[in-house]
Amino acid sequence: MADKIKVALNGYGTIGKRVADAVMRQGDMTLVGIAKTKPDYEAYAANKKGYPIYAVEPAKAEPKFKSAGIPIAGSNLDMIKKADIVVDCAPEGLGEENKKNIYDKLDKPAIFQGGEEHEVAGTSFNAAANYNEAIGKKYVRVVSCNTTGLCRLIYAIEKAFGIQKARVVLVRRGGDPNDAKRGPINGIVPDPIHLPSHHGPDVQTVLPNINIDTAAMKVPTTLMHMHFVNMTLKKKPSRDEVLAALRQWPRLWLIPSWYNIKFTGDAMEFGREMGRPRNDIMENAIWEESVTIDPQGEFNVFQAIHQESDVVPENIDCIRAMTGAEKDGMKSMEKTNKALAIGNFNPWKLTPP
Ligand code: NAD
Repeated sequence: MADKIKVALNGYGTIGKRVADAVMRQGDMTLVGIAKTKPDYEAYAANKKGYPIYAVEPAKAEPKFKSAGIPIAGSNLDMIKKADIVVDCAPEGLGEENKKNIYDKLDKPAIFQGGEEHEVAGTSFNAAANYNEAIGKKYVRVVSCNTTGLCRLIYAIEKAFGIQKARVVLVRRGGDPNDAKRGPINGIVPDPIHLPSHHGPDVQTVLPNINIDTAAMKVPTTLMHMHFVNMTLKKKPSRDEVLAALRQWPRLWLIPSWYNIKFTGDAMEFGREMGRPRNDIMENAIWEESVTIDPQGEFNVFQAIHQESDVVPENIDCIRAMTGAEKDGMKSMEKTNKALAIGNFNPWKLTPP
C-alpha cells in the first residue's frame, strides 16, 4: 500500500480544525500536527484528540503552553518540515506572509484559503470544476465558502446546459458563531455598495468563461449564507432535467419540501439531527421547491452555504490533486464524500411519507 500523505495544518481556527479532523478521516492521509499561536480551548480540545501541537513563534508561545500544561512538539517549522504538504488556515492575509517566510524557504507545497488573493497561489480550486489544474502544483488556493458554493452549482449547470449569464444576490452571515468582533448586530449592509461584489470575479478565477454578476449584503446572523441565483441557460431544459442534473452531485443537497426546512436555522438543526461533527453542512443546501424554470427558460434557485464547513472537502481533494495521489477528480471526491458522509442528507433513496 502507498504511504499515506503527511499533512500539516498551519492555523487551527474555524477552518483549520475542521480540515484537521477531515484529514484524520481519510484512509490515505495522516496528520503530522497542528500549529497554534497560543493555548486556548481549541488547543485543549486538539490535545485531548491526541493531535501533536506545534507552536507558531515558539519563543513567545512556549511559556504560555507550558503554564497551561499543554505539551508542544516543536515549532510550526519543525511540523512543516515533516509534512508532504501544508494546509494554511491562518487568518486572511497571513497565508501570503507564510508563503514568503516559510513555504518558499522550506520548498514545501501549500494550500491557501479563500481569504488570500488568487495571485498568492496562482491557481484557484474547486474539486468539481477544475481538479486537474491543481495536479502537481506547488501552491493552490481553495476558494472562499461563497465562491465554493457558487462554483459547485454553476459548474453542474454549465456542464449540463451551458450558461449564457449568471446573476447572484448573496446574503452573507455577519460573523461565525464564535466571532464577537464582526457584525452587523442590527441592520442590513450592502457589502460592498458598489457592484459587482468580489464573488463574481472570484468565481472566474476557477471558471473563467462564466459571465456572472454578483451583489452582496451582510446581515445579523451566524447561521450560513444565502444565495439567490438566476441563470440564463444556453439550452432550454425542463425543471425535471435540471433536478436530475443537480442530483448527480452529492455536494448539492436538494432539500425536499417534506423535510419542512424553512430557514437556515432548520438546516443547521438537521446537521445536529444527523450527528454531523459540529453540526456541519458541507453540501450546498438547495431548496428543491425553489428550483424554477420560467417560461423564458431562466433558472432560479435559493441555496444556503454553511460558511464554516463547505470548503473542508475541497481542501481534502486539493491535497490529493497537488500531491498527485489521485489523478481522477471524480474518484477523489468519491473517497472524500464517503469518508465525511457527504450526500447522506439526500433523500433520493427514501420513500416520501
Ligand atoms: P480563524 O481566525 O478562525 O482561525 C485562524 C487561526 O490561525 C487562529 O487560531 C489564529 O490564532 C491562527 N493564527 C494566527 N496567526 C497565525 C500564523 N502566523 N500562523 C498560523 N496560524 C496563525 O480563521 P478562519 O475563519 O478559520 O479563516 C482562515 C482562512 O479561511 C481565511 O483565509 C478565511 O478567509 C478562510 N475562510 C474562512 C471561512 C469562515 O467562514 N470562517 C470560510 C471559508 C474560508
